[in-house]
Amino acid sequence: MHLIWFRTDLRTHDNSALAAAAERGPTVAVFLLSPAQWAEHDDAPSKVDFWLRNLEALKAELASLNIPLLIRTADHWAQAPQVLLELCREHSIEAVHVNEEYGVNETRRDAAVEAVLQAAGIGFHSHLDQLFFTPGSVLTKTGNYFQVFSQFRKVCYQRLYHSIPPLVSRPRAQKPLGIKADQVPTAVNGFATPGEALQALWPAGEEEVSRRLEWFTDDSIHDYQVQRDLPAKPGTSQLSAYLAAGVVSPRQCLHAALRSNNGEFETGSVGAVTWINELLWREFYKHILVGYPHVSMGRAFRPETEALAWRQAPKELAAWQEGRTGLPIIDAAMRQLLATGWMHNRLRMVVAMFLTKNLLIDWHEGERFFMRHLIDGDLAANNGGWQWSSSTGTDSAPYFRIFNPLSQSERFDEHGVFIKHWLPELASLNKKEVHNPGALDGLFAVEGYPKPIVDLRKSRDRALTAFKKLPVRQPAGTPRKELVHD
Ligand code: FAD
Repeated sequence: MHLIWFRTDLRTHDNSALAAAAERGPTVAVFLLSPAQWAEHDDAPSKVDFWLRNLEALKAELASLNIPLLIRTADHWAQAPQVLLELCREHSIEAVHVNEEYGVNETRRDAAVEAVLQAAGIGFHSHLDQLFFTPGSVLTKTGNYFQVFSQFRKVCYQRLYHSIPPLVSRPRAQKPLGIKADQVPTAVNGFATPGEALQALWPAGEEEVSRRLEWFTDDSIHDYQVQRDLPAKPGTSQLSAYLAAGVVSPRQCLHAALRSNNGEFETGSVGAVTWINELLWREFYKHILVGYPHVSMGRAFRPETEALAWRQAPKELAAWQEGRTGLPIIDAAMRQLLATGWMHNRLRMVVAMFLTKNLLIDWHEGERFFMRHLIDGDLAANNGGWQWSSSTGTDSAPYFRIFNPLSQSERFDEHGVFIKHWLPELASLNKKEVHNPGALDGLFAVEGYPKPIVDLRKSRDRALTAFKKLPVRQPAGTPRKELVHD
């Protein structure tokens, strides 16, 4: 008997580990509930709820293949080896199959599980699934991990031209095993179930995701280049939560995008090409996580930026978190995050720059807050996004290119449609006033909406001064040795 251990790969289609297990013989499936570990990782309650709802859908998909889904608890991953060993003994498992995960804790967990299983004579096979290319297989000429996205992308394209990673078939139904599937819990202690409105935005299951992918690649993808920066429009795929939980694979996304673009990568529909680039950004940050594991341990990619004199400003941090900074585009974005578990990419960059530059608050605060609220929270992408915005990361925004939230607002939400949706108190303002109600005096001031908590020009200068004081950048290359080990 074989065991497929599901983690962030909650699907039956194009699942490398599931296909490999089922090919070798009768298969059972397991998922581990690890609330203490999830809390340590700041996983959001909405994300945990999304996992549970997708597990329920997965259980039904697996049932149609006669693969029972078992649920076990390993509160902390340190318990995973023992819990899995007991399960393997209970069902006389020959080998366990998993899809690779790339954080430092995930890698250590898998190594510990493999060691314990092997000592007991049980096989452990991990498979490439979350990515197109194994980290470490896309390197510079000198054998280092890329630090610049455009160079990384170029090599990825060269490889993809030669061969596109094929989709893996969904296994055929096996003979019933007579093992009863477990009940999937509807909630886990410590993670509040989100409201129905939030749940309704993110329906679970492979059928739902294939509908979304089809809708996006049949139609919206061709306008993606134009619409992707406009938060008032549904111009992006909104697939990130499904990709993060593995309800859809990047290969499925790539195949669908190529289909919509007659098989072309860099020519044809500009929208499709741009979207494929985004899939490669996802790939890039996961490779960075493996190549520079210090970023997975809370360290800045560029060590010299750790000397930055971040401000301790708890009241301003709270205003940012709660969407009451007095800058409508920031507040609307933060309210979108709190209400939906998701935020538009353009706004993620705008609010992250505002926190780390205008408020000069440590990017770790923002990273943690995002992780605790994002339904698509993903260590690599979130860390990459925060370090990009705070100019501490790989290939990041130069520290002197600070977004002005007012011009971003005027440019990407010209008529204030997005702002008014999330801040109905500003509904009566015209398209000029809505971006900066703080500039309206006396009678025109909006009651109940705060004045800006910071002067944009002065705070910009303050950030520039702080960044200029940093020691000279260390040469690019492998990270400082002491940062790799925690
Ligand atoms: P689309 O525009 O349709 O893109 C398709 C897919 O490509 C996305 O679903 C995502 O998987 C991937 N992708 C797109 N942009 C990026 C990017 N810049 N980096 C990495 N992958 C990308 N994305 C997450 O999935 N999880 C996070 O926790 C996360 N945190 C972020 C934090 C900050 C500060 C920033 C600036 C960005 C973050 N992103 C994160 C990246 C990006 O904002 C989201 O992936 C995107 O908004 C998701 O919406 P979508 O599915 O409609 O994306």
